[in-house]
Formats: sequence, structure tokens, C-alpha cells
Amino acid sequence: MRHVMRLAVVAMWLFAAAPAPAQSRQEVRFPDLPGYKTLKCDLHMHTVFSDGLVWPTVRVDEAWREGLDAIAITDHLESQYRRSEVSGGRNRSYELAAGSARQKDILLIRGVEVTRDTPPGHFNVLFLKDVDPLDVKDFYGVFEQAALQNAFVMWNHPGWKGPDLGHWGEAQTRLFEQRRLHAIEVCNGRSYYPEAHRYALDRKLTMLGNSDIHDPASDRPRTAQEHRTLTLVFAKDRTLAAIREALDAGRTAVWFQNQLIGREEQLAPLFAACVDVHPVHQRSGDSAWFEVTNHCELDIVLQRTGSDSPLRIDLPALGTSLARIDVRRGGLPQKLSFEAANFLVSPGKPLRVSLELAEPESVRSGGARGGSDRAPSAATRPQ
Ligand SMILES: [Zn+2]
Ligand SMILES: [Zn+2]
Repeated sequence: MRHVMRLAVVAMWLFAAAPAPAQSRQEVRFPDLPGYKTLKCDLHMHTVFSDGLVWPTVRVDEAWREGLDAIAITDHLESQYRRSEVSGGRNRSYELAAGSARQKDILLIRGVEVTRDTPPGHFNVLFLKDVDPLDVKDFYGVFEQAALQNAFVMWNHPGWKGPDLGHWGEAQTRLFEQRRLHAIEVCNGRSYYPEAHRYALDRKLTMLGNSDIHDPASDRPRTAQEHRTLTLVFAKDRTLAAIREALDAGRTAVWFQNQLIGREEQLAPLFAACVDVHPVHQRSGDSAWFEVTNHCELDIVLQRTGSDSPLRIDLPALGTSLARIDVRRGGLPQKLSFEAANFLVSPGKPLRVSLELAEPESVRSGGARGGSDRAPSAATRPQ
């Protein structure tokens, strides 16, 4: 018996001494913009408190593991499918997730999805203080309640569903004119809605891209193409108040299937922050060689618009590419013009950019590259 006791004590000591299993997080790397932090946000997801398949704290764990800064849990307002299994009202999923979010430093936004047949469709209401007062029958009454709480309202997945899918309707007009519609999902899960992109540009609505995840998050490794659809929010700080200010100001971009979708005002400085052009390090005969570093998660594709550039330069995510240009005619050009094919500033229209080339002294005087020439010149700019 004493032997057994001793074993138990040793086992307890071993347990106590063993370090807690480390949790690992895969960062989402997009650089900050001058004056703004780039926050990775998913503002649309579900739990067992509507038709999702996970407990609210799981959404926080997933967000932490996937490198997010902020999430909104947005269970359906009208459909509490599992009322017999889970109870506690419409704030319960937020309340259950809040402690875990504080522990993991995930910014948690209290929200709900207003779920009506199309038209008018589905809308997320975010930054609420209390979800319950929104549970009124009249569709416009819901948004009256939302306005009383100074909430932020977005039109969800405009391309889903019914004969009026994707079309701006009477309800959108009325909410927009009442200043009760502030944003639109340009992307939802695996869908991109070009018409929504156009609506956002024309009406100055904030562009969002979210997962609308219902299942547990996949544990498949992330790739440039296969990843959670996210909104990049360019906020003055990493706080809920700063996210709200940025959403009100429309400072967002959508990361969707190896593309960034947004406005030129955001995508141009983001491209400049993502891409560093190194000075030319070698000239020989008719060729000049230089490197380009990509600091973001996108496999960036540059396609020539000017006559001096290489036809296409591929900049793999978080990698450096080597490029060669022909300098037979007219020497080294100062800048090369491209379209960044997967930076979309309006439907079908890529961002125009230029890479500015710098020639180091050693090359200008005919010498070989010195070791210090590899510092990037940060010479990219939108056109
Ligand atoms: Zn929906
Ligand atoms: Zn949803």
C-alpha cells in the first residue's frame, strides 16, 4: 500500500512539474500602414446558439490559433435552433466567449445576424450592448433598436439567395438613407460578389470579407489560396474603439482566395508596405538584375503595363524573387510599371503600381555588388 502511495506522489509531482502543453499560433502576416495597425478580423460566425456546430469558446480558440485580432460572434437573431439544448438568451454566446477572449487577447465584438428571407436578406449588427431589444417583429424596428445602441450594420452575403439575390433593394435604400446601413460583405466564405464590390464603391460602404463559419475550423494547413476569408482593418490602435473608428471610416481590405479586394486608398499603401525593391545588384551586357521582397501572405502577381518591364513577376508570399530586365535600349529605367493582378480596386480592375529601380554606386561606376547593397530601397509606389 505504501508503495502504491509513493507511486501516486511521484506521479502527482511529475504532473505538477510538467509544463502546460504549448499552444501554437499561425500568424497572418500583412504589414501595418503608416499610422495604422493592420488588424485581422472575422466579423461573421456562428455557434451552437444558432445553427453553428461549436461552443462559443471554440470560436475564440480558433481565432487565436489562426492569428486573428478580432472576431464577432453573430448567431441568428430569429432562429435559435437548439433552444431545447442551450438557453440563456441572445447575449449568451457572447457572454460565454468573453472570458476566453480576454485570456487570449482576442478582441470580441458583441453582434447578431438579422435573418429575413430575401428580400431584404441577412444583416449583421455589431458593437451592440444588448442583443435582446433587437428581437422585434418589424424588420425596420430591428434597425431602430440597433441605432439606439449606436450599432454598426452590414448587409451580409448579398449574392444569397432567392430570385432577388445580389440586388440592392428597397430595404437597402431605406436603411442606407436612414444612415442605418454602413457596410457590405464583398466576400463571404468562398464567394466574392462583384456587384457588392461595386455597391460599396458607389455608396461608400465599408467593404468586409468574413468566414460565416458554422462548422469547426479546418485544421488543414493554410495556403495562399486556401485560407479563412478575413477583413483587414487599418486601425489607429489594437482596441475595439479603434476598430469601430476604422470601420466607420471605411479603412478595410478583404483577404479572399489569394486576392486583396478594396479601395485604391487602402490597397495602394498596402502594396507599398508589402513590397520592397532592392537596388540593382548586377549589370552585365544587356541585363540588369535586382531582387523584390514580398512581406505579406499573398502570392503577388505583377503583370507588365509599361514597355521596359519583365512581362510578369511572381512574388511568392513572404519570399524574395529575382528579376532581370533588358537594358539594351536606353539603359536602366527608373521605374517599371505593372498591374498587381490580385489587388482588386474594383470588379475586374487591378491596382496599377510601379517598382522604382535604384542603381548602387558600385554598379554605376562599373564595379560588382557590395555586401551592403541588399538593403531594400522601399521604392514601390502606386501610380
Ligand atoms: Zn446569413
Ligand atoms: Zn451567417
